[in-house]
Amino acid sequence: MAQHGTAGKLWVVATPIGNLDDLSPRAQQVLREADLIACEDTRHSAALLKHFGIATRTLALHEHNEGQVSGELVSKMVDGTQIALISDAGTPLISDPGFRLVRAAREAGIAVSPLPGPCAAIAALSVAGLASDRFVFEGFLPAKSAARRSRLQALCAETRTLIFYESSHRVVESLTDMAQLFGAARVVVLARELTKLFETVLDGTLGDVAQRVVADANQQRGEFVLLVAGADDDADAARLVEGRRVFELLRRELPPGRAAKVASEITGASRKDLYRTSDES
Ligand code: SAM
Repeated sequence: MAQHGTAGKLWVVATPIGNLDDLSPRAQQVLREADLIACEDTRHSAALLKHFGIATRTLALHEHNEGQVSGELVSKMVDGTQIALISDAGTPLISDPGFRLVRAAREAGIAVSPLPGPCAAIAALSVAGLASDRFVFEGFLPAKSAARRSRLQALCAETRTLIFYESSHRVVESLTDMAQLFGAARVVVLARELTKLFETVLDGTLGDVAQRVVADANQQRGEFVLLVAGADDDADAARLVEGRRVFELLRRELPPGRAAKVASEITGASRKDLYRTSDES
């Protein structure tokens, strides 16, 4: 809970990702007692604060003004102000603004305390049934196709569970690219609209889930976390990465089928996997 005194403080407060009842009693109290709430979008957060009867003053802190506003907020905290940082949904800083403010506060010797709570990535991982002992959070993939594919290509050999955020605009493209680059047989879990009315968790192979999502427009609506099983083992994954490199070189001179066959002979990677990752497959 907020403690008024001479020292200012920054509270980093997680808010619901869909279900308002997920705002913890302690988070409600901190938001109520803080001197100021820094929000990503003040109008969006007004609905949450109104629901809980919280009248604390708000101020916008978003991607575009964070550098400038952080300095002003740190000065206030040095003077004793208690500030709560929230984002539109979930945990601030996780694919959301706040990193610069937290860093500036810590550099100024201000206490920074977490109010833990909802986070879509962790909520999705907790129900996915994929290995959860080691995982990688990748946030959003690049919007442009070439950059997205190149990021996915760099992740082909990753053996830890991969977690991505995705929007309704690009979920089909991302699943299709993943099926091509990771192989259609890799297991994926698609967690949609968690904690909301249309919460859905689909699992299966990338090929199968991509098809189901393409065929059903309802499965393309809302907010998504995509979780992909890690590559089988380091040796297989390394073979595939090397195979793909050789395949891309050979493709400049040979038809894709022939390039995949020769690359497979050279590197030991499966010809089918190589051919599947070709743009023409
Ligand atoms: N800071 C947030 C957190 O802790 O999860 C994430 C903010 S990021 C801007 C928004 C993305 O998180 C969405 O595009 C979606 O990928 C994911 N997300 C947020 N709420 C979700 C939900 N209820 N179900 C599934 N994914 C969600």
